Amino acid sequence: MGIKYSSKINKIRTFALSLIFIGVIVMYLGLFFRTSPIIMTLFMLFGMLFLVASSIVYFWIGTLSTRAVQVVCPSCGKVTKMLGRVDLCMFCREPLTLNRELEGKEFDEKYNKKRKS
Ligand SMILES: [Zn+2]
Repeated sequence: MGIKYSSKINKIRTFALSLIFIGVIVMYLGLFFRTSPIIMTLFMLFGMLFLVASSIVYFWIGTLSTRAVQVVCPSCGKVTKMLGRVDLCMFCREPLTLNRELEGKEFDEKYNKKRKS
């Protein structure tokens, strides 16, 4: 269908994962400054911030998941989770909606404007 959106939960999960990577890389860079403990400590603390941020995001995913509705995707038949009234299937990216009135027009321009990313 040419839609580039990914499901909201997947997006947040990718974000949390990249936070871990950034944190690890920053902490690793700190090892190059072993000669100056202050700079090394700063790198370590900065890296820790990313790791803490990522665990907060993971916690947030957990809270979101409990609010997410499990639906069977009409397109691929797999059980997926959706957030809010309109979301995409995690597997085939089929647009899903809980609101029958929106069926068939869930990716109207007005929805696209809200989902610029
Ligand atoms: Zn699907």
